[in-house]
Amino acid sequence: MENFEELKGLLAVPKDIVLTTHRNPDGDAVGSMLGMYHYLNQHGHTVRMIAPSEYPEFLAWLPDADQILIYDLEPERGREWIERADLLFALDYNDLDRVDKMGEVISEVDARKVLVDHHLLPGAFPDYSLWDVDASSTCELVFDFIALMGDKRRINHRIGDCLFTGILTDTGSFKYSTSPKLFRIVAELLEMGVNDQQLQDLIFNSMDEKGLRLLGHCLYNRMEILEEYHTGIITLTKEDYETYNIQRGDTEGIVNFLLKLKNVKLAAFIHEQPTITKLSLRSKGDFSVQEIARDHFKGGGHKNASGGASFIGLNATVKKFKSLLPEYKDRLAKA
Ligand code: 5GP
Ligand code: MN
Repeated sequence: MENFEELKGLLAVPKDIVLTTHRNPDGDAVGSMLGMYHYLNQHGHTVRMIAPSEYPEFLAWLPDADQILIYDLEPERGREWIERADLLFALDYNDLDRVDKMGEVISEVDARKVLVDHHLLPGAFPDYSLWDVDASSTCELVFDFIALMGDKRRINHRIGDCLFTGILTDTGSFKYSTSPKLFRIVAELLEMGVNDQQLQDLIFNSMDEKGLRLLGHCLYNRMEILEEYHTGIITLTKEDYETYNIQRGDTEGIVNFLLKLKNVKLAAFIHEQPTITKLSLRSKGDFSVQEIARDHFKGGGHKNASGGASFIGLNATVKKFKSLLPEYKDRLAKA
């Protein structure tokens, strides 16, 4: 990390700090923010957390999750916090368009900005960056940050639970973007008292009946396989959202089931929300979904996991996605 000593110097004196993460925060977003929160709190800083929109219910058990301000619900207070801050951390996002209206406020203020992230193509806004696309998760990088600060011994049970959560969710329980370094960190977290079995249950074995039936519906009625293009698509309509009473977080992970098919290398989950149609893209091996998300759906992310949106409705979006496939046919066949 460039200029790390300068940042460490700033953190040597109690500061007013705001931690932020991306819209529709996932396990890594919330885990990295809370892990950093519990760490910085030990140093006597005043630390506040803001997420642009609400986090899913399955993360509500994380220690002090209820302290996170939701910018959509309290924009005035959020703005006040950001304007008052000496230091602002951007966790698990690479550019200000990932935090909507909050991004405009962040770009205007004088606070020094620290990026901790693992998404491709970071923007130019940060003053300090701990950025690594090869990291499994931002939580892995928060661990690195604490280690760089020389404070590994300060990682307690609470910090460990938060960091382990983001690692588990961003790697799909150690299925994607793992590395020897990650497993070493995980071993250290277990030695520090993290209960991995308990966290697996809290995160992955806590569905309600409705959620499991929704998964069944997606796989049985809403899945299309395009053998020729090694591609699988699952769609959900606005009506499905009503019928299954789908809430934030209920559709998390559905896209990954498509990758269970041997022949599928590209997976798309396309779902209709009140004003936009969201796409979640996943891939296996060397085939990158990042360009598809960036070039055609105003999005981005990682090589094997990206997302984007469209404003033309569900059917037209599915049609557009399918129309792109011939362009990628050769690459998909080789991947
Ligand atoms: P998911 O499909 O789980 O929503 O997102 C997968 C990855 O793509 C995440 O790393 C997320 O940050 C990124 N991503 C999802 N939606 C968008 C988007 O609209 N814009 C950008 N730039 N990245 C996105
Ligand atoms: Mn992440």
